[in-house]
Amino acid sequence: MRKIDLIVIHCSATREDRDFTEHNLDVAHRRRGFNGIGYHFYIRKNGDIKTTRPIERVGAHVKGYNAHSIGICYEGGLDAKGKPKDTRTEWQKHSLQVLIKTLQIDYPGCRICGHRDLSPDLNGNGEIEPEEWIKACPCFEVKSMLSKTANTPCHK
Ligand SMILES: [Zn+2]
Repeated sequence: MRKIDLIVIHCSATREDRDFTEHNLDVAHRRRGFNGIGYHFYIRKNGDIKTTRPIERVGAHVKGYNAHSIGICYEGGLDAKGKPKDTRTEWQKHSLQVLIKTLQIDYPGCRICGHRDLSPDLNGNGEIEPEEWIKACPCFEVKSMLSKTANTPCHK
């Protein structure tokens, strides 16, 4: 089993008023040359958690961090006009918490962050600021979501 020390949250960057199934995701990722869905888990708008890649297999979701991480993606991330937005439904928020808590039991001490939080720290002040984000994904602040849970995440 590979070493896991990071969980990265993503959005599918699809519009909140459209359905984007795990099958659509599979087709999209294969077109990009991936061997199946690059994320390990996919959370549908109704809260369904789909296992889309075995954790033992290295993911294809964040450049430079795939070897030691788990990728979780939620369906959505764009408003009806295609602009980045936190479109998570209450079911998705709940499923995300449950999934993260479960993974924290299996991989204690894991760091948890959003895709955009792994953008390069251009001004070197130790914080990844909005103007440094390469992309908006996952379109919400993972840090503030985690501070609402009883389990304090282990930040590096
Ligand atoms: Zn992403």
